[in-house]
Amino acid sequence: MRAAVLEEPGKGLVVKNVPDPSAGPHDVLLRVRACGVCHTDLHLVDGLLKTAGHARFPLIPGHEIAGVVEEVGTEVSRLKPGDRVGVYWWLSCGRCPCCLAGEEEVCLRAMDDMRAVGLTRDGGYAEFVAVPADYVFPLPEKLNFAQAAPFYCAGLTAYGGFKNAGLRPAQRVAVLGVGGLGHLGLQIAKAMGAEVIALTSTEAKTELAQQLGADHVLQTGGKDLGARLADLGGADVVLSTTLDLQTVRNVMQGLAPMGTLVLTGMAAGRLPVDPRTFVLSQQRILGSYLGSRQDLQELLQIAVQHNVRPIVETYPLEEVDVVHRRLRENQVRFRAVLEPS
Ligand SMILES: [Zn+2]
Ligand SMILES: [Zn+2]
Repeated sequence: MRAAVLEEPGKGLVVKNVPDPSAGPHDVLLRVRACGVCHTDLHLVDGLLKTAGHARFPLIPGHEIAGVVEEVGTEVSRLKPGDRVGVYWWLSCGRCPCCLAGEEEVCLRAMDDMRAVGLTRDGGYAEFVAVPADYVFPLPEKLNFAQAAPFYCAGLTAYGGFKNAGLRPAQRVAVLGVGGLGHLGLQIAKAMGAEVIALTSTEAKTELAQQLGADHVLQTGGKDLGARLADLGGADVVLSTTLDLQTVRNVMQGLAPMGTLVLTGMAAGRLPVDPRTFVLSQQRILGSYLGSRQDLQELLQIAVQHNVRPIVETYPLEEVDVVHRRLRENQVRFRAVLEPS
């Protein structure tokens, strides 16, 4: 099969022929019809991801995978060839305290035991991928492959963040950054019944943010961002999708009492926390990572019922370098998706 292979971090991707993967007894072999491209993929290729000691190379990246079942293992009865499916790529262990508490996305064994599809084991930048059947679920008919793929990381990260923050209908949500994650976050927050505020550095995105469900749009430039957000009543939940920590600092005073700042971007640096503000207002800062398989099923239902769709650019596998360059240069509107087959 054709695949984009990372021989070694820092060395770039090579598109070439490699042997087809095979399905073990509990696996399914998928024909990859769409694989979204995530910032994490850039970090992996650049060697910035802390998979040292876990990932083996050469490795095929790609974790936003939608496709068709090609073959099932001898022990798999729930799926059959021809099924349209998507992959929950964080192959949790099912036994650790996090998994038992229903927070399988925090399962650290997924990384340690080479169970992260596209990060520590081969993923979807290829014509085929083999994954355990327990992590593969049917796609709703109304979603095509390219539209579906971004839900498996970008969409799930936004939805998981809102759920972890305890978002309730009629609350006010601010989404910081209108990019791959944020443009889905706006739509999902709206679908969950929130009043939605888009925070963007790009004035040209104002109209688009409104079309995606934003009731208000604020430009992020300036230290008074938090004050301007407070003028709108303050945000019960701020979903931060940016790596720009200065803007995150600026937005913090726009949190409403009992508000939660949800961090989804793994930016290196520090945030200032004044305990007096946080104690008296009972505010929270929450790190949030992905979501569970259950969250994913809920999200796909919400997407179908409320017409939540990513805006995608599609590319053949051979153009993966073009895609990565566009992502590095912030050119992608708003999620790039490879179509390997
Ligand atoms: Zn991702
Ligand atoms: Zn676990």
